[in-house]
Amino acid sequence: MPELPEVEHVVRALRRTVVGRTIVASEINLPKLIAPTTLSLFKRKLKNVTVCGVSRRGKFILIECQRPGHSEGLVLMVHLRMTGKFLYLKADDDLPKHSHAVFYLDNDRRLVFRDQRQFGIMRVVSQTKLNQAKGIAELAPEPFSEEFSVDYLREVFSRSTRTLKTFLLDQTKVLGLGNIYAVEALFRAGINPFRPANTLSAKRVVRLHTAIQEVLDFAIGHIRAGFNLEEGFSYGEAFERFWQVYEREGEPCVKCGSRIRRVAHGGRSTYWCPRCQRR
Ligand SMILES: [Zn+2]
Repeated sequence: MPELPEVEHVVRALRRTVVGRTIVASEINLPKLIAPTTLSLFKRKLKNVTVCGVSRRGKFILIECQRPGHSEGLVLMVHLRMTGKFLYLKADDDLPKHSHAVFYLDNDRRLVFRDQRQFGIMRVVSQTKLNQAKGIAELAPEPFSEEFSVDYLREVFSRSTRTLKTFLLDQTKVLGLGNIYAVEALFRAGINPFRPANTLSAKRVVRLHTAIQEVLDFAIGHIRAGFNLEEGFSYGEAFERFWQVYEREGEPCVKCGSRIRRVAHGGRSTYWCPRCQRR
């Protein structure tokens, strides 16, 4: 599943590719992708809109569009979920299997949304209602925004007795960390993943805050360059060789040489160094 750094790269690639283009028509082959909106309404809303920007909120990709004759813009919100991918095809390229949405552009190219597992989500909302949209309204501040400060983190930690590992995955409290990056951030900060959030010292909150930003920044910076929209994006491989604890059970810790430990809970694994991340 793509995590925030991977989604950030999809956003950047889309920005390079579709900003300035007009969607002349669209085709949806999977009604549940856009539910509860109907096919005809969805197509009508996006007809002849011009893409003026691509941004991100959490893991939602926001394709910002201008409608002819309207001052208020529209946003096409897309969540890739498990297997969603964008492709950018030429007019004579074959449409691959699982192409559930096709946007015909004014340069004879097609922007295609492909999703094998079919968990992806697409919504059209007006720009002014974006912040109240379901899935967006609940989100914690962006990890690189001013709002996501040490004080903010201290405050939300102080109100929770959940373990840090669980807490860091809650996107309404701390945004941007999936399982991999939560585990890596805790290792970087030298903090035990099973410690209750409200027991973290002020000094450790600062360390964890830094580690969260560093691990995301590092991941964004090190994702394999050169993926392109013709082939779609591949996820997951990019950061693997930089993982310090994730999927390294039994291997020596890069800092102290102790064996990395793993515990599985709720279908997810936590990895940590028993020495660097003592309770
Ligand atoms: Zn260690």
